[in-house]
Amino acid sequence: MSLNPVRSFVIRYTLPERAHRKSCASPARFNNSGAHSRVVTAGVVCCPKSTTSSVSHSTPSPLLTTEPEIDARITQPGGRPFQILLIASTLAASWLGMQIVHEAGHVLGAWATGGTVLGVELKPWSISRTDVSPNPHPLIERWSGPLVGGVAPCAAWLLAVAARIRWAYLLRFFAGFCLVANGAYIGAGVVAPVGDAADILREMPAKWPLAAFGVVTIPLGFLLWNGQGPHFGLGTADGQVNRRHAVACLCVVTGIVLSEVAF
Ligand SMILES: [Zn+2]
Repeated sequence: MSLNPVRSFVIRYTLPERAHRKSCASPARFNNSGAHSRVVTAGVVCCPKSTTSSVSHSTPSPLLTTEPEIDARITQPGGRPFQILLIASTLAASWLGMQIVHEAGHVLGAWATGGTVLGVELKPWSISRTDVSPNPHPLIERWSGPLVGGVAPCAAWLLAVAARIRWAYLLRFFAGFCLVANGAYIGAGVVAPVGDAADILREMPAKWPLAAFGVVTIPLGFLLWNGQGPHFGLGTADGQVNRRHAVACLCVVTGIVLSEVAF
């Protein structure tokens, strides 16, 4: 028996374009005939207001939940100022949080291999660093930073999705950010090794593991970002974001900055 994966995973909803443009703010595709035809993957309900549907679908996997939840979950809508606040604070929190998780990986790697952590440099204005001495297994300790830095945020996002937390999309963005950042940092070591990549090459001259890490993590990071724009007020969301989430992100950034400056 053969299955067509594309056919079995594609659902189409169709209704007049004008009506659907008014009733559905979620991202959509408009075909040449004027009908509003949305393509949704993996059994996820596209638009709860759609009047016609050609499918029967099973309960969607929370791991695949994307577009339909975007509009339904903007329960505290805010305008452009909140959109700017959400985007800016999410980027800032992702940058600071990425460095924290990355250095936590170094610390765990050092502790797990009998190393002694002398200090962790975490300041908003500088690139983070972990000093380990003695460091019995520097290769493991160096790799632990980017590995934990990429895996831990993904695990946090998946847990949030499984728990059906409304702000799971923020963790999804953060996980994508960490994958892209760590992947670019290590992958660039193939041509310009600095920091961890330089240390790794000193312990093991082969460059292919660095390239492999970047090849896996960077596309995966962009995959996580894909389709998330409306959460941040982009596209058909027309500037609407959850204002509570925007304020919460600002609080997170403020808390991290104050903590790093204080310690
Ligand atoms: Zn590092």
